[in-house]
Amino acid sequence: MSTSQRFDRGHTDDLMSFLAASPSPYHAVANAAERLEKAGFRRVAETDAWDTGTSAASAAGSGGRYVLRGGAIVAWYVPEGAAPHTPFRIVGAHTDSPNLRVKPLPDTGAHGWRQVAVEIYGGPLMNSWLDRDLGLAGRLTLRDGSSRLVNVDRPLLRVPQLAIHLDRAVSTDGLKLDKQRHLQPVWGLGDDVRDGDLIAFLEQEAGLPAGEVTGWDLMTHSVEPPAYLGRDRELMAGPRMDNLLSVHAGTAALTAVATGPGAADLPYIPVLAAFDHEENGSQSDTGADGPLLGTVLERSVFARGGSYEDRARAFAGAVCVSSDTGHAVHPNYAERHDPTHHPRAGGGPILKVNVNNRYATDGSGRAVWAAACEKADVPFQSFVSNNSMPCGTTIGPITAARHGIRTVDIGVAILSMHSARELCAANDPFLLANALVAFLEG
Ligand code: ZN
Repeated sequence: MSTSQRFDRGHTDDLMSFLAASPSPYHAVANAAERLEKAGFRRVAETDAWDTGTSAASAAGSGGRYVLRGGAIVAWYVPEGAAPHTPFRIVGAHTDSPNLRVKPLPDTGAHGWRQVAVEIYGGPLMNSWLDRDLGLAGRLTLRDGSSRLVNVDRPLLRVPQLAIHLDRAVSTDGLKLDKQRHLQPVWGLGDDVRDGDLIAFLEQEAGLPAGEVTGWDLMTHSVEPPAYLGRDRELMAGPRMDNLLSVHAGTAALTAVATGPGAADLPYIPVLAAFDHEENGSQSDTGADGPLLGTVLERSVFARGGSYEDRARAFAGAVCVSSDTGHAVHPNYAERHDPTHHPRAGGGPILKVNVNNRYATDGSGRAVWAAACEKADVPFQSFVSNNSMPCGTTIGPITAARHGIRTVDIGVAILSMHSARELCAANDPFLLANALVAFLEG
């Protein structure tokens, strides 16, 4: 069965909805989970026993399952009758994006302005956060330990830029921003800074009684929705493409494979692993450098009656495609890119190579990706950094090293990476999703 053309422009329309509905990693995994549920996947709790026959908690039989922890999700589909040592085919991605996050004592202000104290998460292009209407979203933790998502998706905050009349050098010397002093958003007027104000406001927004929230993980987002752009609408502008574009494509690919006509005969166990905290190094209980993926996959083998030997065989035969955004050649800064490797927006997914293991791809991984793209009838392009420029990295090398799983780094080439509003070609997201389907099908 040909997998070509499984997804088309409708996939990009759907991506725009996914981006708009996912202002935080917690929202992103909730939205991914909702799509998985619709495709017949069921949630299993990490604190339950997984090997208990057909109970709701079980991961013993065939079918789709997922684990959701904080801002991370791991989902997998077991074909009917798959042996415990069946190797995994994993699409890896990350759910977090650089932004401004609320500090523990958020209520502040000066000179008649009420402000919210923020910390900087990851490495945003800080200028891109100025003069945007910002909403606030994230996770509230309640007295009983449960959590509630909150999303104030309307203009609430703004980081106002200094007027040019008060900063004439900005046009000649560039914008200089002090991370502590210059990025605190305003959200009202008044001199009476009251501790607890912001959280009380969010309790109201979430329909919770006052004093119910005892913990929070809150972040700002631009409320401007994603949009097609350009004369022929060939481009798409939007927030958090790095890396919700891959989370969305991976979710679409896994659900397509699990509900497709060939689902019963898959030679591999297809997996989606979307981690949090990539933007600050992946070292957390929900990051790629933690045990989450390994533990979940291992338990899934044991739940199906497998031995340690079966687990070792399933891991040894596994391949992970780590999908994250990369850099398309910028028309105004072409000299920053490698002179002969020029990924173009709209040219299909990129294969990312770095011989010093900033990316995990090697020749054998390239061959796996080339086969998937050929099967899906999708073109792909090669990315390598200019030798004089530092190379970025992603979850690929971490996944390879942490779990001993052969890994290939790929992704979609965009402009303005880490801006509050990034830019890609409108066809690259569905070309990626089509290639991921072919990869997961094996
Ligand atoms: Zn990324």
